[in-house]
Amino acid sequence: MTAGPNQPLGSLRGIGAKRILLFEKLGLRSVEDLFWFFPRRYEDRRVITPLQSIREEGTYVVAVSIEGVDRIRTRRPAVFRYTASLSDQEGQARAVWFGGWSMLRGFSFPARVLLYGKARLIDGVPEFTNPEIELWTEGAKGEAWGCVLPVYPLTEGLSGKWLRKFIHAQLKETLPTLPEKLPEKIIKKRRLLPILTAIMGMHRPQSREHWALSRKRLAYEECFAYQLRLEQWRQKVQQSSTVPLISASLSSPVSFFDQLPFTLTSSQRAAIEEIVSDMRGPLPMNRLLQGDVGSGKTIVALSAAFGVLQSGYNAALMAPTTLLASQLYEVAKSIFTPFSLSCRLITSATPASERRKIMEELSLGAPLFIVGTHALYSEGVQLPRLGLVIIDEQHRFGVLQRALFAAKGDYPHVLTMSGTPIPRTLYLALYGELPVSTLTEKPMGRIPVQTRRVSFKQLPRLIDFIRKEIAGGGQVYWVCPLIEGDAQTVLSVEKRFLYLNKTLPDVPVALLHGRMAEEEKDTVLRAFLNKETSLLVATTVVEVGVDVPAATVMVIEGASSFGLAQLHQLRGRVGRGNRRSACFLLDDSTEAIAVERLAVLEKSTDGFYIAEQDLLLRGSGDIAGNRQHGENGFRLVNLISDVRLMEWAREDAREYNHAMNGDRILTKEG
Ligand code: ADP
Ligand code: MG
Repeated sequence: MTAGPNQPLGSLRGIGAKRILLFEKLGLRSVEDLFWFFPRRYEDRRVITPLQSIREEGTYVVAVSIEGVDRIRTRRPAVFRYTASLSDQEGQARAVWFGGWSMLRGFSFPARVLLYGKARLIDGVPEFTNPEIELWTEGAKGEAWGCVLPVYPLTEGLSGKWLRKFIHAQLKETLPTLPEKLPEKIIKKRRLLPILTAIMGMHRPQSREHWALSRKRLAYEECFAYQLRLEQWRQKVQQSSTVPLISASLSSPVSFFDQLPFTLTSSQRAAIEEIVSDMRGPLPMNRLLQGDVGSGKTIVALSAAFGVLQSGYNAALMAPTTLLASQLYEVAKSIFTPFSLSCRLITSATPASERRKIMEELSLGAPLFIVGTHALYSEGVQLPRLGLVIIDEQHRFGVLQRALFAAKGDYPHVLTMSGTPIPRTLYLALYGELPVSTLTEKPMGRIPVQTRRVSFKQLPRLIDFIRKEIAGGGQVYWVCPLIEGDAQTVLSVEKRFLYLNKTLPDVPVALLHGRMAEEEKDTVLRAFLNKETSLLVATTVVEVGVDVPAATVMVIEGASSFGLAQLHQLRGRVGRGNRRSACFLLDDSTEAIAVERLAVLEKSTDGFYIAEQDLLLRGSGDIAGNRQHGENGFRLVNLISDVRLMEWAREDAREYNHAMNGDRILTKEG
């Protein structure tokens, strides 16, 4: 195995099966993944503060002498508290460690040490609580001192200190071999940092500016890779002469609409007309359909597909998850079967032989409607006579990037759907002039979801409410964040599942999370849909598109750790039928911004308004600005604050592609 950025982490010394699993949880496979695994926040340990100048509560690094440490009994047996007096040339302070033997083990006193941590003033004297400690040798800078220290997102079982050291070592050893992927010309034109400086700047920033420039460079690279793919696709489309000819009408011989279980809203009708008229034009359609959660985008897409199938072409619908795909498949079947149109499902669980069979059917037989996940555009799947590709939940842009390349040789019409309103400036930057249809209303009879913030103190009452709701025939989602909170209150999905199982012994509780096998997830969700289970404890896998009309309560634990748009999506899982629904934001955060964000949700159910407020509240405080496994398919790009970068990238990709004239170039898997 050659050492380099592509090297799998498992092949490194000291990385065993257990660590590989933990890495996978964080989405880390290769050494290069580590480079793109950015800190959640930073600790500034550059400045040593003299004790005397600590005048207010805050986080400080101090260099002090400790004469000795006192061990004090606490009320709990075998649990001790450790205290020490600290002094430097001019000042005095105290430090307290609660049960902190692991932090102090190995030190002998008196000693000169560096401390890092939070200090409060007690009668004017600073007191540190559980500070980190390291022996201080003059001149020698420790790996964790005298710098801005990265703090990485963690997963249970992986120590922060260990991960930091590990990443640091890899940066030192392997980073220099990482090739520059951006063309020199663009780096110059946009005054971007070279790749190595930028990666270092994310992990070990020398200054705030270094960090900001690094982030910009890497976000730009993501934008550029995305735009280049889009550009190459566009070019191919323009050169193609085979546009699927859509001639069928939706209202004859039998009206498609008359067969639907409901009457379409007027904006659904308008959207269908726009789409059909696009598909009758001389160029392949590329239209965006946007509409708030629950506005009924699916049926619009299926109507468009109906026209395509009637014209003798196949059509495909791609969903971001297996869960959603199999659900959409069921919906499609129920709509299309009365018209003798057949549907097929292709997910990662579909065996190769089955796929081959479907492919044969596709090229020979009557038109088919294919529903699937990314498995649809994996190796070996060819979708012939493809008239229309529908991409659901477009805010996962990664899906689009790859889907565009799925249409091997064919130039189908493309309809993308988004449940997250995209501001005009943004989609211009993302796609250029892309026609948009918007669903502006919800189907009749919907009652807005009541949203309330509740604290963990109210947990027993909340559980009581849930018990009653379920007894009355309701169903409940309980969503947990991916990572356990620092406090004991916010639990991981497994722990919450166990807790609820115990607390509600008469209620069938189910567990659903991203690490389960696809089929298992599907089974669990199906059981919930069929009311075999009443309480579903889940991670955000239920965020996108899941449609269980009987569900009436959504609990979101640790709500302040989710984005506003995401919370709105989650809430959109309830209030889909005609019953009154409720959403509880279970959260104890006192941070002003968190309080305000949650208040926005309590106040409004309008996705456009919420998106706007999200923009306003996010501001510039979001230093890392980095959601791992980004909600939007990018690692670093913030689709709101990075619009400018996206515009640059669009311009640059076009020029570059033109100059390269279709040569093989940068293609980074998104
Ligand atoms: P989304 O826009 O979030 O994808 P869906 O297409 O999943 O929304 O629709 C949400 C629910 O509303 C589904 O159960 C669907 O059957 C129902 N629905 C869609 N259109 C209408 C309508 N015109 N009248 C009544 N119910 C509708
Ligand atoms: Mg949907």
